[in-house]
Amino acid sequence: MITPADEALLRRAVDLAARAVDLGDAPYGSLLAAPDGTVLAEAHNTVRRDRDITAHPELKLARWAARELDPAGAARTTLYTSCEPCGMCAGALVRSGLGRVVFALSTEQLVELNPASGDWPVLLRDGPALFAEARVPIESYYAPGR
Ligand SMILES: [Zn+2]
Repeated sequence: MITPADEALLRRAVDLAARAVDLGDAPYGSLLAAPDGTVLAEAHNTVRRDRDITAHPELKLARWAARELDPAGAARTTLYTSCEPCGMCAGALVRSGLGRVVFALSTEQLVELNPASGDWPVLLRDGPALFAEARVPIESYYAPGR
């Protein structure tokens, strides 16, 4: 459930998205907040500027949280973001251990506003294969007593 306090932080994320446009970047902004609402870190999309397809604000903040917070601290934080995280960012957010994500626009609403946002090619995935060979480095790394 989204509270008025959540909405205030969400508005700040939308403001970050607007400021990104002023800087010539794509219109996406996010921030990471402690349980009392203190903003710990902010980011916006810099895909074009950095020529980096991973420069989404949610991914930057997931990396920041995993680096700067202990697992218990990360679990207490909330990420506020102007749009629902994409698949890449959602995976990173899960791995970072953040406790909650609150977003303004859903992916469906974003695609309605900009149809190109949903225009991704299908990735062909083949596998599994070579089980006997591929298991060797896995088993040696995770072997008991290592
Ligand atoms: Zn993303």
